[in-house]
Amino acid sequence: MADRSAKAAATAPRADPWQAARQQFSAAADVLGLKRGVRDLLLEPKRELTVNFPVEFQDESVRVFTGYRVHHSTVLGPTKGGIRYHPDVTLNEVRALAMWMTWKCAVVGLPYGGAKGGVVCNPKELSRRELERLTRRYTTEIIPLIGPESDIPAPDVGTTPQVMAWLMDTYSMHRGYSVPAVVTGKPLAIGGSAGRVEATGRGVMIAAREAARHLGMPLAGARVVVQGYGNVGSIAAQLLAEQGCRIIAASDSTGGVYNEKGIDPSALLRHKGRTGGVVNYGAADGITNDDLLELPCELLVPSALEGQIAAENAPRIKTRMIVEGANGPVTPEADRILNAAGVLVVPDILANAGGVIVSYFEWVQDLQSFFWSEEEINKRLEGIMVRSFREVLATSQEKSVEMRTGALVRAVGRVADALLLRGIYP
Ligand code: NAD
Repeated sequence: MADRSAKAAATAPRADPWQAARQQFSAAADVLGLKRGVRDLLLEPKRELTVNFPVEFQDESVRVFTGYRVHHSTVLGPTKGGIRYHPDVTLNEVRALAMWMTWKCAVVGLPYGGAKGGVVCNPKELSRRELERLTRRYTTEIIPLIGPESDIPAPDVGTTPQVMAWLMDTYSMHRGYSVPAVVTGKPLAIGGSAGRVEATGRGVMIAAREAARHLGMPLAGARVVVQGYGNVGSIAAQLLAEQGCRIIAASDSTGGVYNEKGIDPSALLRHKGRTGGVVNYGAADGITNDDLLELPCELLVPSALEGQIAAENAPRIKTRMIVEGANGPVTPEADRILNAAGVLVVPDILANAGGVIVSYFEWVQDLQSFFWSEEEINKRLEGIMVRSFREVLATSQEKSVEMRTGALVRAVGRVADALLLRGIYP
């Protein structure tokens, strides 16, 4: 089939996510009429750690890596947030992701504050042993911040259940006993939770289903475009296909594939597993990431990185709704354009909260050493997602704001109320 994927997979310029996160927060703070002190406090991360650490490679060379762990807020409880391994990780990106985690936990009612971590590296260029060494050393460097009662990491872009297993083992070795509750997204055999791997994608599907219901748009036959075919995107695609959607295009860092008649998402995942990427999937044409985002469709699910839909390409987006599998894929300028064009955007802090919801279940199970069935996990996840979706929709209608600001108004309001109840120490 024709190949249009010769251009780089993603050419959209990436806006500063930290600026975006702060702008979004300020819009909600305005609606809430937040007092100056509370607003100023929530605009900044509570604490930030930067670490530079060596890793010995297989050829005995030593390379120095930079990593971060940022706690945005501890008002509602211990902090929670993933760890990203990617060459483009920056402190500002980690700050934004940590702030979004605070709002995400608050909007779905979890007793957590927000955190995030990252290491500037390309995990695809590391051998398994080098990846393990990097993970164990990074974990050791951030040990002052993490713990089952203080800060509980999880997977994000470029990290896997295996990476979480090494993190859990390293922390446990330092303590002298096993501490499974220090991290979530672990393999089942060492205290992971049933349903965690699928949780974020499942939550995306539930959010899309509720949004379609709200719009009166049937999901059966709806054309879906998925950017980012990793944990979130590939699972969301498979579960949306089970709802009757037609997955017409998908992409990853290797490029994109497109077939108007529909792509079998499970077959595409098997192809990616065999070849390392979605490109050259036989039953579809190649397409660039830029063109893929602009395909006419009913549902667009950006599930890769921040800033993919910006002022420049937003006017060319031809979808009925966007459900944000990724964190921060739509910039504030793009939000305004899409909103004016009548595109419904289900915001990240709601749409992809399934991951942290089941991470919370995993943490609770680890603390109690009592494990639940997958059926029970999925039922509880469904309940929280549907309730949160309806609450956010009601708030946005009541305040006459789009869903992102509606979600933030609920989340920021909860954190601000808790902050005022706790008072200012000393
Ligand atoms: P992942 O590493 O499993 O997958 C990311 C995918 O995006 C990969 O397939 C990668 O090739 C692709 N990608 C990277 N750059 C791209 C580009 N420029 N164009 C197209 N595709 C590109 O990561 P993930 O866990 O699926 O996370 C994806 C997004 O979802 C991130 O924004 C992450 O913060 C967010 N998220 C993840 C979780 C979770 O539980 N894993 C939870 C909530 C939110």
